[in-house]
Amino acid sequence: MNSDIKKELEKRILVIDGAMGTTIQQYKLEEKDYRGKRFSEWPKDLKGNNDLLSITQPQIIKAIHKEYLKAGADIIETNTFSATTVAMADYGMESLAYELNYESAKIAKEAVAEFKKEFPEFADVPKYVAGAFGPTNRTLSLSPNVNDPGFRAITFDELVEAYAEQAKGLIEGGSDILLVETIFDTLNAKAALFAIQNVCKEKNIKMPVMVSGTITDASGRTLSGQTTEAFLNSISHVDLLSVGLNCALGAKDMRPYLEELSDKAPFFVSAYPNAGLPNQFGEYDQDAHAMGHEVEEFLKAGFLNIVGGCCGTTPSHIKRIAEIAKVSKPRKKPAPDTLMHLSGLEPVTLRPESNFMNVGERTNVTGSKKFLRLIKEGNYEEALSIAKDQVDGGAQVIDVNMDEGMLDSEAAMTKFLNLIASEPDISRVPIMIDSSKWSVIEAGLKCVQGKAIVNSISMKEGEEKFIEQAKKLNNTALLLL
Ligand SMILES: [Zn+2]
Repeated sequence: MNSDIKKELEKRILVIDGAMGTTIQQYKLEEKDYRGKRFSEWPKDLKGNNDLLSITQPQIIKAIHKEYLKAGADIIETNTFSATTVAMADYGMESLAYELNYESAKIAKEAVAEFKKEFPEFADVPKYVAGAFGPTNRTLSLSPNVNDPGFRAITFDELVEAYAEQAKGLIEGGSDILLVETIFDTLNAKAALFAIQNVCKEKNIKMPVMVSGTITDASGRTLSGQTTEAFLNSISHVDLLSVGLNCALGAKDMRPYLEELSDKAPFFVSAYPNAGLPNQFGEYDQDAHAMGHEVEEFLKAGFLNIVGGCCGTTPSHIKRIAEIAKVSKPRKKPAPDTLMHLSGLEPVTLRPESNFMNVGERTNVTGSKKFLRLIKEGNYEEALSIAKDQVDGGAQVIDVNMDEGMLDSEAAMTKFLNLIASEPDISRVPIMIDSSKWSVIEAGLKCVQGKAIVNSISMKEGEEKFIEQAKKLNNTALLLL
């Protein structure tokens, strides 16, 4: 079942289901329903912990999956948007993370099996379970404290660990696809993708992976500040099944960004917008008919391979969208190019006609005495102003080097790059992480959401070691000097 989804996507547009949360609301569940028998004594409020319903009210979750399958969904998402140790900490339920993912995938698989039994005419039509990874409530590229822009509430490694546990549960529960969705911060998504790669490698399996970002408003950027193309460049190191957008915007407002992805992405393209924009009460009013018109417009334009709905959408929305998808042609992928695509908050493409790339070299402790002094003194504010001057002066990439015997280079690299991330005037350009030490390069890569360049890797530890390390860094362009 896993391997045939690419073939299916060549033939037709696949439909992904609608919102789980909106549909759960219609059941008007109370605190006691969320708790069930097992958590009746739990010390924290549990109402609103929708993922928990996979354990306490599995029949409801399964019924919703079946509603969407009946409406015409080809892909149903597991009820696991917040099922990581990180997001479950709000309820003190970190220890349930694996079980939530495993059970949710299992319920979705059962829903597919029961649906096929009830509707034998669909016995041979493939239906897929997508194990869903949400963004969590902590971001790697942003500080929750305005007075301390270099602070992070979580580390890359902690997030990788949480996502790896989620990946295990989703895979072992039977997911056919993995879906990293509602991406506010591309660095969080990179942590999820890295965790997925590690788990698949450990299990010696291949899983189709979908990625879906979220453009938060009319500025056309993610919450962490990236444009659509910059986001695409950041995640293109993985051999994805699809890339797309979901949530935050209605179909109409999502259109320009989908057109851009459709033009540029070397993968299949997906979209599952909200049912319009929320009203003053935070509810979604756009009905299936109205949403259908907006979706029809870009399906007819040939932008998509996978389509569905996010917040506010119900089985009736999905039914209408499925009817339109059925009579629309799937998007054809553009021919892949071999250009070097980089990104900070904005994309940079190195083209043959551009003879050189202007790299700012002043934020390099081995090249600038002033920069070295500032870092040694801990004067990061002034050190940042050097980076800003470089970008203002036309640098297309900034080189950051902390290789100095007297410095804790890993710590200095981490601190400086985290500070750069909170300065959009600097972080709009890609970063060149410059070090002869793998540990410093890795520390740096864990701080950049864009697609970076790694500079100055030496092969003095031998070719084998080099190849092994280079494989770990596959989300970067390598520059050998
Ligand atoms: Zn949504």
